[in-house]
Amino acid sequence: MKKDITIIIPCYNEQDVLPLSISSLIDVSNKLKNIGYEVVLLFVNDGSNDRTFDILFEAAKIYSEIQVLSFSRNFGHQAAITAGVNFCRTNYAAIIDADLQDPPELIPDMLHILVKENAEIVFGQRNKRKGESLFKRLSARWFYKVLNYMSEIELPKDVGDFRVIGPNAIRQFNKFTEHGKYVRGLMSWIGYKQIAYKYVREARMSGDTKYPLRKMLRLAMSSFLYFSTKPLKFILSLGGLSVLVSIVYALYALFGKMVGFTDAVSGWTTLVILLSFFSGMQMITIGVVGLYIGGIFDEVKGRSEYILSEDKCICK
Ligand code: UDP
Ligand code: MG
Repeated sequence: MKKDITIIIPCYNEQDVLPLSISSLIDVSNKLKNIGYEVVLLFVNDGSNDRTFDILFEAAKIYSEIQVLSFSRNFGHQAAITAGVNFCRTNYAAIIDADLQDPPELIPDMLHILVKENAEIVFGQRNKRKGESLFKRLSARWFYKVLNYMSEIELPKDVGDFRVIGPNAIRQFNKFTEHGKYVRGLMSWIGYKQIAYKYVREARMSGDTKYPLRKMLRLAMSSFLYFSTKPLKFILSLGGLSVLVSIVYALYALFGKMVGFTDAVSGWTTLVILLSFFSGMQMITIGVVGLYIGGIFDEVKGRSEYILSEDKCICK
């Protein structure tokens, strides 16, 4: 099989860190070339509104391996990775953040393991997170716990999108038509031989996180909705339980009325409590069902997952 690899780098407003990332990626590219690989560095500019594109444009003039895809607006990290994999023309691909939190110099080793072990995916697994806030670490830990409980497949813990993938994984990934992609979940779902590669996640080199709480929640939401129908099953059992409780209570009320150990007027408090409890529960239930319907609505529209701004794409 031909030895070639595309390194996919999603970038959103990364002007502060890009010069540094480009030079480390070029170093990695040279190392890979030394062992006989053809390398494409595919930057996906996710609708940045800073100097990200200009920096990439200049770099592409100097380095022949640099190619750039640009979106017409910000479509999000997952869409950027998807575009990268869609445009990958090589047998292997690597996915890495632009902020150097995932060390690019690990890519050759990960690729080596992938080929040697005949695996389809070697994914980075963080055994330490440096420079991330307590909130981020705690929320991440709980996120994985709840997600794994909720989802129908096992999603490895502390795994981001940093990974090297082989030809089958690329081909299968490109067959997915869903729009709300949760890339790491889908990659795990693909199967084949997958190997965890432990590494220390560094602090972001420069610039701020491009994942504010809003985007984190959206990612969490799509991972739940797309990987699990457990929330639906959960509310179904909750509904069943409440019906059971209400039957018991109805029997008590009826029987009490007949025998005369309850007083009909004294039930007001009970009524208020039951009414508000069950109407709250119904609203939650409708809300959860609504989330799934919203997901279906998005999918049915079948819009593109991203739109390229062709004048800002550099393909060689
Ligand atoms: N990113 C992107 N589009 C977005 C948000 C982020 O392409 O809408 C990119 C970003 O440039 C970076 C990667 O996704 O390369 C991870 O983002 P970030 O480092 O901000 O996330 P964190 O590491 O803080 O979770
Ligand atoms: Mg980061």
